[in-house]
Amino acid sequence: MSIYANVQKGPAIEVFALTQAFKDDTHPNKVNLSVGAYRTDAGEPWVLPVVRRTEISIASDEKGNHEYLPVTGLDTFTNAATQLVLGSDSPAIKANRAFGVQTISGTGALRIAADFLHTQLNRNVVYYSNPTWENHHKIFADSGFTSLHSYRYWDQSNRQLDFKNMVADLEQAPPGAVIILHACAHNPTGSDPTHEQWKELAELFERKKLFPLFDSAYQGFASGDPDNDAWAVRYFVQKGFELFVCQSFAKNFGLYCERAGNLTVVQADASTKAAVHSQLTLLIRGQYSNPPAYGARIVSKVLNTPELRKEWMDSIQTMSSRIRQMRAALREKLVALGTPGTWDHIVGQIGMFSYTGLNESQVKVLINDYHIYLLKTGRINMCGLNTGNIDYVAKAIHAAVT
Ligand code: PLP
Repeated sequence: MSIYANVQKGPAIEVFALTQAFKDDTHPNKVNLSVGAYRTDAGEPWVLPVVRRTEISIASDEKGNHEYLPVTGLDTFTNAATQLVLGSDSPAIKANRAFGVQTISGTGALRIAADFLHTQLNRNVVYYSNPTWENHHKIFADSGFTSLHSYRYWDQSNRQLDFKNMVADLEQAPPGAVIILHACAHNPTGSDPTHEQWKELAELFERKKLFPLFDSAYQGFASGDPDNDAWAVRYFVQKGFELFVCQSFAKNFGLYCERAGNLTVVQADASTKAAVHSQLTLLIRGQYSNPPAYGARIVSKVLNTPELRKEWMDSIQTMSSRIRQMRAALREKLVALGTPGTWDHIVGQIGMFSYTGLNESQVKVLINDYHIYLLKTGRINMCGLNTGNIDYVAKAIHAAVT
């Protein structure tokens, strides 16, 4: 008998299973609203023009080579990433209290963060929002956290942030608990706290001694302005918190498969940097030795070259405004069709996703009868909509709801 005979088949990962089902579907009107990646109005992936030019220029540099990067990555990348999220005039950067280490995109930043918190700071309690990106639970459980909790975040009947219950649940968290916060464009709800609510949260975190871990997977992509999207992180830094930010460059640079990420560490004092940096180095060494260079080189060159950076800013405007147009168009079409319910939340939400409020049986109708693929929670990727399919999708939603 094989030594593998008793290995149990694990559950499918919903979002990838849906994408496979979409690929296998031969229906001419099929639509994929599940995957978390940008699509153009023609329904195609988009290589940002500035990314394309930069990769060509890097590849044609005769002096370039494929030597290993340092264990904690490319300095010019980690410095630019840290500055992008904290702001170039950040008091923490000026006081040498903040630094970054390169990671395997946002997921890798979360995993290294979780491992460090568990092994070095003995943290075992983590809270994530309900709902959240489904990988948060797995990453922290795999790192050894055994006390995993969710805090309420979404008011399904009013289709908005449930701030009162979010606060009530966080009030119950023990001192030292790690609290995952989405820096902007909450996945999957597209609903963020207001500035006033972030201020209230900061007060609660300080009083209860909670550890803020910001997951920043959509900076710039959400509002089109990276500074605006980093407001909450910068507010917490200004308030003097020690915190982590897990950054992904998958969405805002369109570098999904290149795994360019950064873990930004903010400390109270510069004196802890050498020890913290050395332990992060050892964690990475034991997992994958050193990170891939390709995406980091592109991001570094773009962020550190003013004219390229400007072009990148224009591209994130292009992406975020196309998403806003699709939000407005979908709402307008549902209202025009007289689809029961209110659809204002679709335009009120920001970022890539909309939490439509469609229930599981309505989702089934969309998938089985209309070949429109979306998560069973009713989350849709707004980028999957375009001028060619939006009428079809709106009519299908109307039929599923009525
Ligand atoms: N965090 C959130 C909230 C996300 O939505 C994602 C990707 O969908 C990630 C982190 C990590 O993405 P990646 O590892 O591709 O950078």
